[in-house]
Parts: sequence; structure tokens; C-alpha cells
Amino acid sequence: MSADARAALRRIPSVDQLLRRLVDRPEVRGIPRVRLTAGVRDVLEDERRRVMEERVAPADAETLAARVTELLTRQGVFSLRPVINATGVVLHTNLGRALLSALALERLACVAAAYSNLELDLATKERGSRYSHVEGLLRRLTSAEDALVVNNNAAAVLLALETLAHGKEVIVSRGELIEIGGEFRIPEIMLRGGAVLREVGTTNRTHLRDYADAIGPDTGLLLKVHTSNYRVVGFTAAVSSRELVELGHERSIPVMEDLGSGSLTDLRAYGFPHEPTVPEVVASGVDLVSFSGDKLLGGPQAGIVVGRRALVARLKKNPWNRALRVDKLTLAALEATLHAYESRTALATVPTLRLLTEPLASVRRRARRVLARLRPETRTRLGARVVESTGEVGGGALPTVELPTAVLALGASAAAARTLDAALREGDPAVIGRVADDRLLLDCRTVLPSEVPALAAALAAAATRL
Ligand SMILES: *Cc1c(COP(=O)(O)O)cnc(C)c1O
Repeated sequence: MSADARAALRRIPSVDQLLRRLVDRPEVRGIPRVRLTAGVRDVLEDERRRVMEERVAPADAETLAARVTELLTRQGVFSLRPVINATGVVLHTNLGRALLSALALERLACVAAAYSNLELDLATKERGSRYSHVEGLLRRLTSAEDALVVNNNAAAVLLALETLAHGKEVIVSRGELIEIGGEFRIPEIMLRGGAVLREVGTTNRTHLRDYADAIGPDTGLLLKVHTSNYRVVGFTAAVSSRELVELGHERSIPVMEDLGSGSLTDLRAYGFPHEPTVPEVVASGVDLVSFSGDKLLGGPQAGIVVGRRALVARLKKNPWNRALRVDKLTLAALEATLHAYESRTALATVPTLRLLTEPLASVRRRARRVLARLRPETRTRLGARVVESTGEVGGGALPTVELPTAVLALGASAAAARTLDAALREGDPAVIGRVADDRLLLDCRTVLPSEVPALAAALAAAATRL
């Protein structure tokens, strides 16, 4: 290193110097001292590198302190925080899937802040079961004999395979060997559950005789997997749940269906194609049905299994169940969500259902309300217009459905669209849209009414970057 370089490095302020400058600033209030120190070190490290590589004089202490506050403000105090979902994907796995209803939040908060009867039978003072708080609801809503809740649907499938088919064969149609996001693949789950996958049929067509021919002394389970995130169309054939149940019962082999989304309501009245609901699958005689708590059901993340009492009892006794169990917060939110279905208020109060069924005109009005809050110059600078488009349900549910929606189209060029996209993601709350055809599209179906002012403010701020 040259003498000049060494001299330049010595002129970079010390960690203590910068910290003294920063501690009393309002911008860093609430940021723990260790976080602040780490931020200072990161900025100084970058500056050292810059001085060496670019052979320039170091920035002064004030400039470096400003970089630290900029860095820390951008990171925020908390890493996990709300964002505005303007993607139009109602169940967006990367954005946290289902939003909880007000009642679910209320129950979750009151159970979290106080002791509860989580595992205490108040009548007898004996140890109770945490599942008792939702079992009755699930039984009544699905007409199944019994129910169990675990951490998510992937866990539910794993638990069922491990319990019913460890060391045995599980027969699955080749048309249903699905992969869903986040490494959940039927063949791999099967392996982990200690079961042997016996594929039958072909990708597009599987017949009842394919299952029948594959049944042997080692068969432990017939598994039907709902192709929730794609569709096989054209020259196709699949065996219905009812036919599979007849075969299974004739040969004394349990039948399970991984339903994926697991809707409790038929959304056909709102223009959606028919998806088998949980009560329908239970009524077809399937012995065990598993589904997610936070897809179309619109509750907290959970995996729900309903079905025959004797089989659910075996799942409950499996030591794996203890490892996959849900906590009280999940149970509180799930109980409240299920209560909304039972009291027939779900369509009005469960956000997922509300977002999915909101009429286009109402979404369009929200998009216009955002624009109306912008100054005319800002609107012009953004090149903002309300246009009609289509969104998706997401979360591996109803994959072919295109939701009619209203979007704000912004940016007069590809570069402007990218600049706006980046600026909106940096804000707080961050706004997540999508760039298509050289425009930034903000789909208002998934923008909550309460978020309209924040979205308008974010747009006004982002417009200054153009
Ligand atoms: C989503 C899905 C799963 C996994 O459910 P998680 O609750 O995300 O674990 C499993 N099977 C099917 C068919 C799915 O659609």
C-alpha cells in the first residue's frame, strides 16, 4: 500500500466518532445500540474499500453519518413488516398468503396476552386437548367424524403417509405427482414418510383399473392429490374420489385426498369454476382429507386433516404429530375463521373471500380513488391511467381463473416503469407491483381500502424519482 493510501485511510473517522455524532439523532431513535454500531461498521468498511479501489479522499464524518442513517432507515427497525400487495394475486405465498379477519386478530391477541385453557378441560380440571377448540367446528362444517390440525398442509400429508403407509406402497396417479412452490413434491414427501410411491396411469389419463391392477399385499394407501396449481386439459381422464373410495373399501385400503386449498364454500355463485369443497370430498367417502388453513379458507397457516375417527386417532398418536403441532395463536385465529363460516359471515369478513368476490366496479372505484388523491402534475408525470386487466387467485388455487380487475398503469417508458418499481419497493410500506409491456401495473384488487392513502403517498414520493 502506498504512503498516500495509508494517509487517506487514516483520515476515515473512527467507529466511536461516528457513533457520537449519531446517537442523539431522531432518525435513529428506537434502533438498538448494537444495530447502530453494526451499521457504522458496514458504512466504514465500504468507505475503506472505496478509498483503496478508487484512490480518492475519504468522505467527511457528516457524509458518512448520513449514509449510516440512510442505511438504517431503509432497513427499518423490523425486518418483517407489512407491504402493499399490488400484484393482484390474492393468495401470494411470498407476500404472506391469507390475511386474517378482524375477529381472528382479536381472538389471537386476547389469547396471546393472557393464559388460556389451551390444554385444560375447565369442567373437570383435567388435561385437555389443544385440538378440542376447533374439532367441533371442523366436524360440523365438513361432516367428518374427527379432525386434526398441524403446522401446514405439507406436514399433514407427511404425517398421514408416515402413520398409514410407512414401509408400504402408496398408489398415486402419474397425473397427480405435483410439485408446489417451496420444495413440496409428492415423490419426495413420500420418501420422507417412509412410503414407497407406486405410480399408475399416465400424465393425462388414469383409469380405475390402473389403481385396481396396482393393489397388492404391500399397498397401504390410495392417495388422490388435487392438481391445485395446474390443470391437465385436452384428452384426459381421472378417477373420481367416489370411484376410488369404492375400490379402496372393496379391498380394505384407506383412501386419502390431499385437497390443497380446501374451500369450505362453493364460489360458483361468484363466477368461479367448480372446485371440490371439503364437505363434498368428505361426502364422497374419502377416509382422510387434508387442506391448508391459509389458502382459500382464509385463515392462519395450518394443515387440517378431517376424516374417519379411527384413522385421525392414529395420526394423533404418532410422535411426529407432537413435532408438527400448532401453537395457540394459530388455533385462536383458526377457531375465529371457522366460526365465521359457521355463522355465515365468512364472505363478508374473511379477507380472502372478500378480495376474491369483490365486483370489478368496486375495484375500479378504489383505483380511481388512488388517482384522485394525486396532484394533477404528479398524475401526468407518472403517466397514470386506470386500465382493466386480469389477476390471479394464487397460492396454488384455481390456476386457470382470471380475475377481472382494475390496475393503475404507470410509467411512460420501460426505464420509467423500472425506476418506479424500484422506488416503490424501497418505501415504507413497500408497494409490490409488476412490470409488463413497459408499464408498472398496480392491481387494485389486492390493495386494501385502508391502504389507499398510503399508496397515493408512495406514488407521490416515487414520482419525484422520475
Ligand atoms: C398448497 C398445497 C400443499 C401444501 O400446503 P401448505 O399448507 O403450503 O404446506 C400440499 N398439497 C397441495 C395439493 C397443495 O395445493
